[in-house]
Amino acid sequence: QGGIERHQYDVIVIGAGGSGLRAAIAAHEAGARVAVVCKSLLGKAHTVMAEGGCAAAMGNLYPDDNWQVHFRDTMRGGKMLNHWRMAQIHAQEAPERVMELEDWGALFDRTQDGLISQRDFGGHRYARLAHIGDRTGLEIIRTLQQRLVALGIDVYMECTVTDLLKRDGAIAGAFGYWRESGRFIVFDAPAVVLATGGFGKAWKVTSNSWEYTGDGHALALRAGATLINMEFVQFHPTGMVWPPSVKGLLVTESVRGDGGILKNSEGKRFMFDHIPDYFRKETADSIEEADRWYEDKKNNRRPPELLPRDEVARAINAEIKAGRGSPHGGVFLDIASRRTPEFIKKRLPSMYHQFKELADVDITAEPMEIGPTCHYAMGGIEVDPDTEVSVVPGLYAVGECSGGMHGSNRLGGNSLSDLIVFGRRAGDAAASYATSLPSRPEAADDDIAAAQASALAPFELEGRENPYTIQQDLQQTMNDLVGIIREGSELERALEEVERLKERAASMSVEGHRQYNPGWHLAIDLRNMLLVGECVAKAALARQESRGGHTRNDYPGPDPEWGDKNLVLRLNDDGTGVDMTEQALPAMPDDLKKFFEE
Ligand code: FAD
Repeated sequence: QGGIERHQYDVIVIGAGGSGLRAAIAAHEAGARVAVVCKSLLGKAHTVMAEGGCAAAMGNLYPDDNWQVHFRDTMRGGKMLNHWRMAQIHAQEAPERVMELEDWGALFDRTQDGLISQRDFGGHRYARLAHIGDRTGLEIIRTLQQRLVALGIDVYMECTVTDLLKRDGAIAGAFGYWRESGRFIVFDAPAVVLATGGFGKAWKVTSNSWEYTGDGHALALRAGATLINMEFVQFHPTGMVWPPSVKGLLVTESVRGDGGILKNSEGKRFMFDHIPDYFRKETADSIEEADRWYEDKKNNRRPPELLPRDEVARAINAEIKAGRGSPHGGVFLDIASRRTPEFIKKRLPSMYHQFKELADVDITAEPMEIGPTCHYAMGGIEVDPDTEVSVVPGLYAVGECSGGMHGSNRLGGNSLSDLIVFGRRAGDAAASYATSLPSRPEAADDDIAAAQASALAPFELEGRENPYTIQQDLQQTMNDLVGIIREGSELERALEEVERLKERAASMSVEGHRQYNPGWHLAIDLRNMLLVGECVAKAALARQESRGGHTRNDYPGPDPEWGDKNLVLRLNDDGTGVDMTEQALPAMPDDLKKFFEE
């Protein structure tokens, strides 16, 4: 490997979204030599697309809000499958992390009194999302990026990591390639922080961009780490359904948070017909009460449009199935009849432009057509809640690629706060691990050669299969058989189909050279998507109940038997698939249990 470019660091952060940038800043401030590696351009990570806001119980609008209420909302939103300690840390530390962003220059929207303004989102008892119009992610990324650059942290852009390197069971570095030249690169580092985001690109209709191929999930599995909660995939209730070229593109929950309502083809505000018993006590049961809530949250209950996402997505799905859908197969989301054009344009500028430009719909004058879209991965790499280290020494995970924090369903706004809270913790812990090691594990030449051979394999094969067709078939399979409503027989078919796709992928070949070759890049990413697809289908088949982002037609309700355990996945012995085991949830201490007693 004499010719391979090679760099030495203490900590390598893979991913330049909010979690990766926050981790890199923390590791740098803790005295480590750090680099960030990302497969797209700096500033292009998924985080930049986040619209609605970042949840933090600052109490700026409602002094009754505090970390305990946020903790309770988060656990109930996740149907109690969250790791309690992660939910606790998250609720306690989010306000401080948001204030820190402000210190670093983030310009949040303000209350009348000049405090950081907070907006309503589903499942949150109080308005608590710090936001910048509907472009919150953009401002957070801008702020973190500026700080990263000011601190002089190295960034490797358009560089994809394809393997993690280990020595004697511990992390020794990472192996990747430059997307433009196709040349290989090795990072020697005893600590790696995975911050690679989700895996929505394995589904056909999704709000996710091309980057979300589950790379971090697959890298972790192949390095010996474990994944949890993989059966829980969040389908956001409101994605665009028309025109076909933008099907799945997100319509932010802020539309409902700011007063938007859902109607079916009969003009009925149907969410009142879909309030589950679990949330009945805290949900308005009349239009009058729901509408009063926007002004007076203390004396009224929240509108059913702001139930957690899994509930709203299922309700929309049911209306469409019952034949009460909109012309293009969705339902109507109406803010035009509820708020003035000035209000809508000020609070939701991106949504206004998105619909005007892409669908020729003026949302200040007419309703939008929307439907569920695959949006967020609750499942991810199992980590220690305090340090974000996985079971592999030196391997950390943070953000959407980590698991546990959100249980079976994430509340809106809780991802951006997750990124900054756990990003900081992971960066700190990785730096202190790396800088205190008496000696550093060094990657073996054979392992680097194996990583290289594996990356080049698609050029060596002479099969007739091409990666684009396999990806399309996988996306269709996941959409049809592992979608929003699932069934045992369909999940079995999905697993068989994934096996067939894996066989086809083994004879997949790519043409051309290593210089910017998207077919080759996809062939590499596809291995990850297939592995992740298998994990989701396998866990979904095993969990014989409905809970959060996992709904089984054949097991329609939650089952207490399943309410206290996770499914844990790891790579099988020959590396061809995954094994799964059940694991008890960690016991919540009594002083936290009391929040759920009534
Ligand atoms: P990302 O921001 O996705 O970053 C992943 C990084 O990993 C990228 O830099 C990518 O290039 C890199 N990467 C991936 N694989 C590799 C590899 N193999 N090698 C090198 N680099 C790699 N959440 C909220 O809380 N509030 C919201 O309002 C909100 N709105 C959203 C709107 C949209 C349209 C979407 C899609 C999501 C929204 N979310 C929201 C969710 C939230 O934005 C994401 O969960 C979050 O940004 C994920 O951040 P991350 O740091 O984990 O990963």
